[in-house]
Order: sequence, then structure tokens, then C-alpha cells
Amino acid sequence: MVSASIASIREQFPIITQSKPALAYLDSAASSQKPKCVIDRIKSYYESENANVHRGIYKLSETATAAFEASRKTVAEFLGGVKEQEVIFTKGTTDSVNLVASSWCGKNLKEGDEIVLTVAEHHSNMVPWQIAAEKAGATIKYIPLTSDYRLDLDVAASLISGKTKLVAMGHVSNVLGIIHPVKSVIALAKKVGAVTFIDGAQGAPHLTLDMKDLDCDFYAFSGHKVMAPTGTGVLYGRENLLNDMPPYQGGGDMIETVSLKGSTWNTLPSKFEAGTPNIAGFVGLGEALRFVMAIDKEAALEHDRRLGARAIEVLSEAKGVRLFSKVADDWVGVVTFYHEQIHPHDLASICDSEQVCIRAGHHCAQPLMEALGVSATSRMSPYVYNNDDDVDAFIKAFRKAEKLFC
Ligand code: PMP
Repeated sequence: MVSASIASIREQFPIITQSKPALAYLDSAASSQKPKCVIDRIKSYYESENANVHRGIYKLSETATAAFEASRKTVAEFLGGVKEQEVIFTKGTTDSVNLVASSWCGKNLKEGDEIVLTVAEHHSNMVPWQIAAEKAGATIKYIPLTSDYRLDLDVAASLISGKTKLVAMGHVSNVLGIIHPVKSVIALAKKVGAVTFIDGAQGAPHLTLDMKDLDCDFYAFSGHKVMAPTGTGVLYGRENLLNDMPPYQGGGDMIETVSLKGSTWNTLPSKFEAGTPNIAGFVGLGEALRFVMAIDKEAALEHDRRLGARAIEVLSEAKGVRLFSKVADDWVGVVTFYHEQIHPHDLASICDSEQVCIRAGHHCAQPLMEALGVSATSRMSPYVYNNDDDVDAFIKAFRKAEKLFC
């Protein structure tokens, strides 16, 4: 049974309630839909609060700055109560990874050093480290998966050594939907004094976050996957590390003084926020996170798993299907599979003809596809606004594809 509070969440998403015929949006791992309060908040910001932030000596600019900075406070709360100066606003997870890979690695990574990643990373949490390692002459080691698609912690323990300077990994896999044992890996990294970076793009939408409990050095997430606008992202970093890092980009707002001889840097978080930010977007992010924090996360996770399980029940009986998802406690409900006779793109097109949105392809995780022995998969990713009808619409489309291709 779905709890009444979870069921009522769906009504707050205009794209779902206004869609005729009914829309079954099952691609939230790619991007989430936005509740009305977020859409309304952006509209009201532009209607009555819009000005540039931080620099204006007039009331309207002060109002815009207050709205923008209130969102930083909300993000700090969402992360379990970190300091506001530890919250850097970025364009998204990709931007956050690039910031640390460029700034922290640029200063600290040396020839012969090692970075440890996992084979399951999204390209965004792999390519920036590869670029940084190549620049420094460092090496990257990858934690493999076990046969049940979990991280191999025994191998992780042997890979993380005195040479390891940084360990970066996803909190939740965007392909497998598995919640990685980040705390165990962070503990291994701490033993050798390595810095830890967690890609929370898929963790933030489903899990309650507490930076003190996780004890990582950096954590990144994207606003658009947690019901906020696109172009908004967050990098959490420990204050001492951020203070020691050089700026990522130069420009307005990130400086203290500029002369023809050179410049000095602003304090945190401004040092890492060059140029006019996506003000309305971040105002929307604050609203979205307040909406998300009001949801019972345990009930929502149970709901997402139940929807995923509903699809798995059918797919596990279907001929020619290789399922990469299994109902489990360390799983957020994402269902990824390969069909011997139906190409993922064909299935996604047939789903589209039935108003069902699913993802097809390599999901920006080509090394993981290689580890799974496939070039592409189909992925159905439910979220708190989905219901049984959405999954049933997907199953109907899947049956239609079976009739056509098998
Ligand atoms: N990491 C993971 C695990 C993701 O799922 C994504 C988005 N698919 C990203 C990083 C990149 O996020 P963005 O494109 O919002 O920067």
C-alpha cells in the first residue's frame, strides 16, 4: 500500500496531472520533474525580486541576494548541517567534479600518485580525474564489481594504498541503482590519508544526507535530479580543503582585490563562484530541497523500490531478458536490463509511442557496460511521483515490443 502522503505528492507535478493522454515518466535518474511550488517560486522571483546578487547597494538587489543566500542555508541543512561557506554553488555534478579535479588535483596531485575510482562511475566522475591524472603523471586504479554487481571491497582494500591521494566514487549507481558502501570505502581511504569525493547525483534524490556521518571530504549533486531547475549544482567541501585550493575560474565575485599586477581571492564560498550565477535557479533549488526534505524519505524509498519490483516481477519471467537489478535493501528501485532480441532504442521508441519515458543506451557509463558485457541497456527509474499505473504502462509497452520483435 502507498501511504496517503506519498500518493498525494503526484498531484503537485503539473507535467503529470496536466498530461493527456497520461504520461508515465520513468526516467528520473536522468532528470526529475518539478513540483508546482518550484515553478511558482521561480516565477515569483522574476516577477518581484529579480536583480543581480552581492553587489547592489539597493533594496531589490538585497532582496535577490537574501533569496539566493537563503537557498545556500537550505542546502547546508539538506547536507545534514554543514557550514554555509562549505556549500559551493556550481552548474551541476559534472561542474563540481571538474572543480575539484582541476583545483585540488592541480595543486596536490604529483607524478607517481594514484587515484582510486570504481568501474561503475558515470563518465562525469571518471573523465575529469583521467584528465587530472594525465596532467600530473598520476595513475588511476578501478575498484571492480563482484558477480552480484556490488563493489568488490576486498579488491578495494588492496587497491587503496599509501600511494592513493584521492578516492572518488558514486553514492548510488545511475545504472544499477545500487547504494554503494561509501562509508566502508571512505574508511579505507582515511586509513591512508587519501581525500574522498562522493558523486551524489543519484544519492541526493533518494537518501537522507549527513556529511558528518559520511565523513567524506567532498560531496557533489545536481539540482535537476532533486526536483530543482537544470543548471544548478552543489559542491560540498571541507572548509580547510577549500581554503587551501586555488580558484577554479577567474572573474567577478571571486576576487578580493584586482590590480594590474595581479589579484587576491575572496573568501569561501565566493572564491569558487566566478561570474553572475543562475540566481533564479538557485532560488528554485532552495524551494525544491524544502519540498524534498518534507517527504518521508524512508517511505519514498520503499515506494520507489515497490515500483521497481513490480517491473522486475514481469521482466524476470520474460524470455531473453538479462536483468541487472534485483530487489534489495541497498537498491533505489532503478531497473536496468538487456534484451537479446529487442534493442534498447527500439524498446524506448515503442515506450514513447505509449507515452512512457524510459532511458536507452550506455547511460554515460561505458566502462560499466563493458564490465556487464553489453553495449547498451534499457533503464526504468521510478521516483516518488510515479504510481502503479506508470509501471503498468511500461509493462504494456514492453509486451507490445515483445510481440513485434520476438
Ligand atoms: N554522476 C551520476 C551518477 C549521474 O547519474 C549523473 C547524471 N546522469 C552525473 C554524475 C552528471 O550529472 P550532471 O549531468 O547533472 O552534471
